[in-house]
Amino acid sequence: MPLSHPSHRQDRRRAEVAVNPVFTREPVVIPRDRIPDGELDNDTAYQVVHDELMLDGNARLNLATFVTTWMEPKARDLMAECADKNMIDKDEYPRTADLEQRCVRMLADLWHAEDPAEATGCSTTGSSEACMLAGLALKRRWQHRRRAAGQPADRPNIVMGINVQVCWEKFANYWDVEARLVPMDGDRFHLTAEEAVRYCDENTIGVVAIMGSTFDGSYEPVAGICAALDRLHEEHGWDVPVHVDGASGAMIAPFCDADLEWDFRLPRVASINTSGHKYGLVYPGVGWVVWRDAAALPDDLVFRVNYLGGEMPTFALNFSRPGAQVVAQYYNFLRLGHDGYRRIQQYCRDVATDLARRIAGLGAFRLITDGSHLPVFAFTLADDETGYSVFDVSAALREQGWLVPAYTFPRNREDLAVLRIVVRNGFSHDLGDLLIDALERALPRLRGQDKPQHGRESAGFSHGADSPQAQHQPTS
Ligand SMILES: *Cc1c(COP(=O)(O)O)cnc(C)c1O
Repeated sequence: MPLSHPSHRQDRRRAEVAVNPVFTREPVVIPRDRIPDGELDNDTAYQVVHDELMLDGNARLNLATFVTTWMEPKARDLMAECADKNMIDKDEYPRTADLEQRCVRMLADLWHAEDPAEATGCSTTGSSEACMLAGLALKRRWQHRRRAAGQPADRPNIVMGINVQVCWEKFANYWDVEARLVPMDGDRFHLTAEEAVRYCDENTIGVVAIMGSTFDGSYEPVAGICAALDRLHEEHGWDVPVHVDGASGAMIAPFCDADLEWDFRLPRVASINTSGHKYGLVYPGVGWVVWRDAAALPDDLVFRVNYLGGEMPTFALNFSRPGAQVVAQYYNFLRLGHDGYRRIQQYCRDVATDLARRIAGLGAFRLITDGSHLPVFAFTLADDETGYSVFDVSAALREQGWLVPAYTFPRNREDLAVLRIVVRNGFSHDLGDLLIDALERALPRLRGQDKPQHGRESAGFSHGADSPQAQHQPTS
């Protein structure tokens, strides 16, 4: 059985895909789940696939995703030119391999590595793979340290807020590391310095600090967490490194919060990841991971591949991977520069904070965050709004074409259900006006209800994984 989405079920009713009679001279039926016996004309095949995909949502009105939904035509040209390049073929495509290395050094520089030429890193399919690699490096370093000291190295744990993206639970599960998830509590919706150190011990391979929680867009206090871990080191001798999951924020903070210290300026930060396909502004899928120096990435994790008769080190889970996204990332860095990224990210933040303020002004909602960290904010219903739920609001917006996810928070705050808006490049103040109009149209009817119509079962935006924590994951 293929891994399937619940919406696939309705497909099952018919074994065949219907082809619009306009496109064929003779009636054509196409089996749905079997490779057809014969061939199809290319125009017909194109039209069949194109028409099926028309029913996907409109990316511009999708306020659920962090992932880039628009790139300029020149970037798309480059991507089409590179569609046939395999990132792993360093020998055949040495220029592509070189652009990847330049991107790594540019990111190392952006994140204030002491010597960007010495920092190591690579592209990945996204932050999920990047986090796996960073987690593996933490685990391996800890094992080496323990074994060198003659201590047992069989019970590693990793400390992080329960608000981590599902990739960290996968990391812990797939690589047998105990996930120490710090629950939320009251108005604390992410990891704090105080809580992080309480969960650490001699078996802690690292602490994950998130620059930009997917639940509410807030930055975790990376500098505070590092300072608390410095004290822990002095008191107990446990030297616990920090990995910063900057899937979104590592491409926001350098441009909008230049003075905020969250990156390699903090000596305890061993590695940083980002999603090139989020605020790096590239189509999916590209991610990046950078280690502060060669010592932060144990050499025994690195493989050497043949490269123009020499050797090229690689560290990756995948083998073949498209080169187009990496080239597009390099294009964006050149095309936009610091100024361009700053202008785009700051515009997103302006739209987010303005929209948050106006949503608060409608009177029906209470802000959880205000868009001043990531250009992302979460809000819930004001206390006296009892006749409807956030899930009803999400459904009412959906009727008008907007995709705004509603979901409950995880452990200790399961009672809190929120809506979340992600402002991406392309979401303008004008679209913000239209969203406010849509809310203003929906509210009188919602406020006229005597009880909520949709409950948390309609939180159709979850990752839908079946681990209990993952059920609370907003999409990203
Ligand atoms: C999106 C996200 C991830 C996963 O990133 P992908 O690029 O989608 O694999 C990990 N961590 C955080 C904080 C995220 O926002």
